[in-house]
Amino acid sequence: MKTDKTSLIGKSLEGLVKICEDNDVKSFRAKQLFNWLYRNKVNDFDAFNNLPKELITFLRSEYCIHPLTFVRATKSTSELTNKFLFKTQSGALIESVLMNDDDRVTLCLSTQVGCALDCKFCATAKMGFKENLTPGEIVDQYLMISQKINKQITNIVFMGMGEPFLNYRNVIKSAHLLHNPNGINMGYKRITISTAGVISKIEKFTKEKEKFKLAISLNGTTNEQRKAIMPITKKNALVDLLDASKKYTEQSNTWLTFEYVLLKECNDSIEDASRLIKLLYDIKKCKLNVIPYNETDGEFQRPDQSKIHSFMSKLRSAPFPVTIRWSKGTDIDAGCGQLAVSDS
Ligand code: SAH
Repeated sequence: MKTDKTSLIGKSLEGLVKICEDNDVKSFRAKQLFNWLYRNKVNDFDAFNNLPKELITFLRSEYCIHPLTFVRATKSTSELTNKFLFKTQSGALIESVLMNDDDRVTLCLSTQVGCALDCKFCATAKMGFKENLTPGEIVDQYLMISQKINKQITNIVFMGMGEPFLNYRNVIKSAHLLHNPNGINMGYKRITISTAGVISKIEKFTKEKEKFKLAISLNGTTNEQRKAIMPITKKNALVDLLDASKKYTEQSNTWLTFEYVLLKECNDSIEDASRLIKLLYDIKKCKLNVIPYNETDGEFQRPDQSKIHSFMSKLRSAPFPVTIRWSKGTDIDAGCGQLAVSDS
């Protein structure tokens, strides 16, 4: 249903307390409301059956529950990956991806409509930046999808459309809502936020001791090479990014994942693999996740199997754990970096 009303989903407990106070309703009601929204995942004002009638009438007149409207779901042929399309209140389209891997069910959330970073290999970049998602629009991807599937979502990754750290406040607020043990109750370590390398926000994340997992998309082994494919490097130099990464692992004493999209004849040489080992050598608690490029209609290609194999072999001598991630759902353009929607 189209509505311009503010949504209740996205409000923190404090936000709900404020609504109660403004309406002369005791603040314990806010906890009940929080429970209905995030734990019981209700879709209808009539469901709030332990709240005073006047409060329900007020909420109904001023608010809607969900900020998103479900548009459609698309299944990959393997049925292991589903892509969900939603419309925001402003009419923009966003996608979320659900990946099933035995007992692990991972939901990949979008944080912005489009993206400003212009990474040369990523389909979302082609849309340009349209708008930031609100905390409600981010959390609602989880709530709407969890209602549509008959499984428990076990992990959340902020790796869909957009750069989470260019929408820092809303992303962190949504991550705390996903974590809140009185609501959705997703453990800190089951929530991963991925950034293309916005150093000031990595520093803020470190300073504020956020407990969510952090991933950094590295994708290059020299400043020049990285700058050519990730223009964010112009203002966030590779050495400084590595320095901020090192400080994060030391100060938080937690593991950091570096992602590395492998692009044919761009960053896939044996020299790149050697340089990677050197670059990350000093970062004691890091892992490297190599992602063979998923084709979009851009200029890049995935390296041949033999090239991927030699690259991975070279990395065997690295002092840190190295994994390879074969993206799921590439047949429905739901793989890493393939998310893009048009209004047409
Ligand atoms: N902007 C954030 C969040 C997006 S995460 C970030 O860059 O981290 C998406 C991940 O997929 C990133 O690691 C990105 O480098 C990777 N990626 C982008 N396009 C890709 C493609 N076509 N194939 C494989 N991985 C890609």
